[in-house]
This record gives sequence, structure tokens and C-alpha cells, in this order.
Amino acid sequence: LNRWREADINRKLLARVIVLSRAVAERLGRVPVFMEVCGTHTVAISRTGLRNLLSGHMELRSGPGCPVCVTDAGDIEQMIMLARVPEVTVTTFGDMMRVPGHAASLEEERARGAQVQVVYSPADAVELAEAQPDRQVVFLGVGFETTAPTVAVALSRAVEKKLPNFSIYSAHKIVPPVMRVLLQDPDLAVDGFILPGHVCAVTGRAPFDFIAGEFGLPAVITGFEPLDILSSVYRLLEQILSGEPLVTNGYTRVVRETGNREARAVMNRYFKPVDASWRGFGTVPGSGLQLRDRFRDYDAACRFHLPAPVYTVRAGCRCGDLLRGKITPRQCPLFAAACTPARPVGPCMVSSEGACAAYYQYERNN
Ligand code: SF4
Repeated sequence: LNRWREADINRKLLARVIVLSRAVAERLGRVPVFMEVCGTHTVAISRTGLRNLLSGHMELRSGPGCPVCVTDAGDIEQMIMLARVPEVTVTTFGDMMRVPGHAASLEEERARGAQVQVVYSPADAVELAEAQPDRQVVFLGVGFETTAPTVAVALSRAVEKKLPNFSIYSAHKIVPPVMRVLLQDPDLAVDGFILPGHVCAVTGRAPFDFIAGEFGLPAVITGFEPLDILSSVYRLLEQILSGEPLVTNGYTRVVRETGNREARAVMNRYFKPVDASWRGFGTVPGSGLQLRDRFRDYDAACRFHLPAPVYTVRAGCRCGDLLRGKITPRQCPLFAAACTPARPVGPCMVSSEGACAAYYQYERNN
């Protein structure tokens, strides 16, 4: 990686990107707009100052790439309902704790006495269930194709041990279906996509080929170093100029063309695709992962007979528009005023991969 981080190489590529972007801007009559569909990219672009360096030459806009942010308000309410069940200990990744629900967050529920525990992996939740047989331990499954296989492996351990007190609330999502919905929006003003390297390490390239094949836009699977991101936007610019859009893999040191078959196999053994609700998008066909029927005993939503969730977002929250690429964080009237990391109104200000949190931390004063 040292070579990828050499300042001189990055500077030279940046200069070439700027030259090429001028040619593209001339062709389009405006600066090109590229969307990153991965929260880790959003943070990398903000933290390294790339957005600032490239501003005036192109716009880098965030999409539905943060798994915590796209988790629907209804799912958040059901998670909070679970935390209120007296015999339940809810386990979750730390990012979920402060996501505002209709009336409270998981963190606030914990302060009121609910058993909510942060874990670093789903395997920790299984261990907790083994250690506390008198408690029902529920793991909140949030994440994309990258996370779901690790949850499936943890579940396989619980199934093997026939743990009666472990279950999963699955709010897992898969990325290609929401990309299709995004691209069907006639008002979407995006000229190419920076595709999520971590997700593609599992899926491979093929599930994203429709972006070029059906919608005529280029897309590049991208790593997380500044040089990765610069190389990708260079490729996107080249493809706009050539008029031959493709979906290509710019992260070959990690992503195999066919992805990770083993990870997909374990994920498919325990989960099946279902329609799922995304914040900002509504129901997206085939975009969620639910436990297969033979593992229903481990499905927290079935085990605890949760009522239909209240379906609300907090007043003024524009996270949905942000996730659909309609606005940037600064265009939300609440940004850095009524909505801050200390007092978040929406999940995009809470999650470590949220666009508003990244802008607030790294770009507030630009
Ligand atoms: Fe949502 Fe707050 Fe960001 Fe506005 S500033 S989009 S309310 S997180």
C-alpha cells in the first residue's frame, strides 16, 4: 500500500484527472457528477479532501451506501420494540445505538433500563447467548452482502449448538436491486458510479453489469485509497469521452471477477432474498435478506410476534433525499444547525459511514 499512498503519484494522477474532466465538462456542458455507493468511500473522499480538491471539476455525490442510514424507520422501530421486551438482550454494532427512532434511540432505551449491548461481531452475540441461557439474545443484522455472510456463519454456530435463546432480526440488504431503482429515477443526474469494493468482493462484477448494459452509464469497482478513487474517476471520465460505458473492476488486488463464492454460498444457505423497505426508497423488490423458512425459529421477528411498525421519520429529516442523491448534506436545512452529531435528527448524522457525519467532521468549514 505504501506505493499507493505516495504523494507524487497521487499528485500526478490528480493533474491528469483534472485535465480529462475539463474535456468531459466541455462535452456535457457542465461538470460531471459521479455517485459513490459505499459509506466507506464517502468517508474516504471527505477525509482525504478529494471532494474539495476536485470541486469545480466534478461533483462527487453520495448514494445509498451506508447500511445504517438505509435501514428503514420501520425497522428501527421494531428494533426498539425488541429492546423493550423484558427477557430480551439486544446486541448490535455500535453505529446503530444512536439512530433516532420515532421517540427514542436504542441508547436512550438502554438508559431507561433496556438490555442493549454493543458487540464487535455476530459471533460475540452467539457467545453471549451461550453465557446467558436465561436471557433471549437478539442480534440486529444490519449491513450489505459484506456483512450477511458473517452473520450466517454465526447463525450456523447457534444452529449447530441448538441454542434456544439466540435469534436474528434481519434488516440485511443487497445492493444491485436498489441501484436499479435509483437508475430508474428520471431525475437522477449522475454520469457514472464508484462501486463498493467491499460488496463487490463478495458479489463479483456481473451483478452490476446492467448499469452499463441497460442504463448506458459507466461504473468502476473501487478501493479505498485516494489513488483508487482517483483511478476510478479517471476511468469514468475516459469512458464518457469514448462513449463506451462499461462496468469495470478497478480493485483487482481484492475483488475477483466472480467475487467470493464461499461467502455467497453460506449467505444463501441461511438467507433468501425478499422485498425490503429502504429509507428514502420505499419497498425495493428482492433487495432484502430474510432467514430461510427452515431457520424461522431463529428469526426474532417471528419469535417475538412484533406488531407492524410505526412508519415515521423525524420532522424535517432529509436523509431519504440524501440517500437518493437528490441533495448533498449542506442542502439539508437542518445540517450543522438542528442536526449535529451530538443531537442527530437522522441516521446519516449518526453512522460512522453517514454522509452528513462525514461532511460535518471533515468538510464543515470548506
Ligand atoms: Fe438527515 Fe440530519 Fe443529514 Fe439532514 S442533516 S439529511 S436530517 S442526518
